[in-house]
Amino acid sequence: MKHTITLIPGDGIGPEVVEAARRCLEATGVEFQWEVVNAGATALEKEGDLLPPRLFQSTRKNKVALKGPTTTPVGTGFRSVNVTLRKELDLYACLRPCRSYPGIPSRYEDVDIIIVRENSEDLYIGLEFAEGTAEAKKLLSLVSQSTGEKISKDFSISLKLISEAASRRIATFAFEYTRTHGRRKVTAVHKANIMKFTDGLFLNAARDVAKAYPDIDFEDRLVDNLCAQVVQRPHQFDILVLPNLYGDIVSDLCAGLVGGLGVAPGANIGDELAIFEPAHGSAPKYTGLNKVNPIAMILSGVMMLRHIDEKVAADRLETAVAQIVAEGKSVTYDLRPGRDTTTAVGTSEMADAIIARLK
Ligand code: NAD
Repeated sequence: MKHTITLIPGDGIGPEVVEAARRCLEATGVEFQWEVVNAGATALEKEGDLLPPRLFQSTRKNKVALKGPTTTPVGTGFRSVNVTLRKELDLYACLRPCRSYPGIPSRYEDVDIIIVRENSEDLYIGLEFAEGTAEAKKLLSLVSQSTGEKISKDFSISLKLISEAASRRIATFAFEYTRTHGRRKVTAVHKANIMKFTDGLFLNAARDVAKAYPDIDFEDRLVDNLCAQVVQRPHQFDILVLPNLYGDIVSDLCAGLVGGLGVAPGANIGDELAIFEPAHGSAPKYTGLNKVNPIAMILSGVMMLRHIDEKVAADRLETAVAQIVAEGKSVTYDLRPGRDTTTAVGTSEMADAIIARLK
């Protein structure tokens, strides 16, 4: 069966790693029809729009997309490409597996943590008010009136909104994932001692959802403590479920624990649609150098293969990646001892070595 997939090359290093992943995916023998659409800086340049309508149409039609990283211009008033995509397509769960592979320089062996990050609300809701604006002043005086607190007028404001519905939805996703993937434990991460009503609500929803899954262990951790524990004793964790901002930060922390952003895949998943993309960004300074690690993108493709029920191909490709990494010869600079660029291969040569292993 041929799979029609929306392919979003992105910008910066995106096109290079997407091309490497596309070649590896095709080398598994699974048949693909790729629908290539622009997003981010490339789309802005070519089509005058960071997120052209065709991007949404194609993803909605095909239900599955493979996406390279995209640059969001800073300080220009543009909303983040990724935040908007996730919101518009209701991709409410961000899945980030953090797994050690032998051969990847990292602090620990055998780390296997899956991060389930809530994607739709929290501080990423995008309700922000700049210091000194009429809206900010109005909001501050409303808060002052309702609480009786004296509040200075020179604050900027970002609203943190957390709902019970979204908290229950992400907790249910985490428990279902745990059950269907034969995992053992869910840890809810929060700061409910300080943010009693937002993080408190998230925690209570997770506790309540946990009651329906007596076969799965459940615990919760304060996010600061969790960070220390993950760095010191990562093996105690299995599935972490977090609100949006903590999920963003902790997933990069965990990526660092298993070898860095170059090896951390990801997916944004909703009830109907899914976009597979690495955790890393567009790393503009490496654009066009054929230098960065394609593994995060290729492993995002492995997650996509599992999602479209091509499990045998997924296992083969993951094994090929693991073998090349373990051998440590045909790898990019970030996986060479001392990050030695003179003995490293380029992005496309690393993909070639993986493809040769699939034959
Ligand atoms: P980044 O992930 O692009 O790069 C940070 C550093 O990580 C790089 O300088 C590099 O040293 C390393 N790195 C990243 N990818 C690597 C790879 N494949 N192999 C080896 N090393 C790698 O983060 P940034 O510099 O903070 O962000 C750059 C742009 O990317 C920003 O515009 C940001 O908005 C965007 N971004 C996009 C996404 C996405 O599209 N999903 C995610 C994060 C950031």
